[in-house]
Amino acid sequence: MIRSLSRRDFLRRSAVAGVALGAAAPLAWGDARSADEKVFKSHGPGEMWLKNSDKLIEQFIRPLPEGQRVNDQICSSRRLENVFYIDLGKHAVVIDSGFDHQVQHHLDNLESLGCDLSRVVAILATHSHVDHTGGVKKARERLKVPVVAHANAVEPITTGDRFRTAAEMPEIKGWKFDFPPCPVDLTIDHGDVIEIDDQRIDVLHLPGHTPDCVGYVWNGHFFTGDAVFGAGLIGWAHERWRSNYTDHADTILGLIQSGPDAQMFYCAHGPMLPYSVAVPEACLLTLKRLLANDADPCNHTPRAPRRTADVGPRVLQLPAA
Ligand SMILES: [Zn+2]
Ligand SMILES: [Zn+2]
Repeated sequence: MIRSLSRRDFLRRSAVAGVALGAAAPLAWGDARSADEKVFKSHGPGEMWLKNSDKLIEQFIRPLPEGQRVNDQICSSRRLENVFYIDLGKHAVVIDSGFDHQVQHHLDNLESLGCDLSRVVAILATHSHVDHTGGVKKARERLKVPVVAHANAVEPITTGDRFRTAAEMPEIKGWKFDFPPCPVDLTIDHGDVIEIDDQRIDVLHLPGHTPDCVGYVWNGHFFTGDAVFGAGLIGWAHERWRSNYTDHADTILGLIQSGPDAQMFYCAHGPMLPYSVAVPEACLLTLKRLLANDADPCNHTPRAPRRTADVGPRVLQLPAA
């Protein structure tokens, strides 16, 4: 179980835990390893997005996504966002829907790669943001399967709240997308197991970027949503989304101290990457910098509601009888 830490506890414990926070150089965003990541100059939308959003939206968000077979069991469809299909043998799951304007293209791509959409038993949502679940209503209608999301995602997804879902970001010119409200059929929380035939998918609550971020771990493959990227990066934060850095640091510490047994990870943006404890350790440096800035509103948002000790982890069997 990921424990809850106050911000002060986090800083103290990180120092004691041998994570050499004090000795580490501050993370310079220009040091990020991939060209894509250099667009982020700070933790929110970087200068490039703020200045050239119209161009970037046309370049990265509007064009059709591309499908890719990752291996025998996993396929992805990618534009700005990733949508995944996991073949579990008899049945399959889809992770996220992508934007509303992309969802049908994502599903078409997966089908053209040989993914059998009729075997899908659930759409597993990583979080309530428009680029990942804006299209979930159309995906649910086409696949006729339940939408599974964290309990904290029920409100934004079922109302299509324009601001909590990032469907609108007033500071980014042209960032206005549809988020048709959609029912959440099944809720999940930290420690739950989704059982599909003889396969198990472990659920990790990873709050911070939003209160409803979850990761899914299947067979050594870790689907991290926007909670953890490579090169120490994490998803943008905004108080409108109820982003909270103490939650995020808590999430990252949980991954360092008792993380999943995974060899590869799949972010909701960008390519798959090898996974080790070095991945969350790099994110911890980012969080340290963010926690130190008391002027950042995401240090003052409410903490994410979490599963309480009296409600233990559950096993969710799919397809539902
Ligand atoms: Zn997000
Ligand atoms: Zn995202």
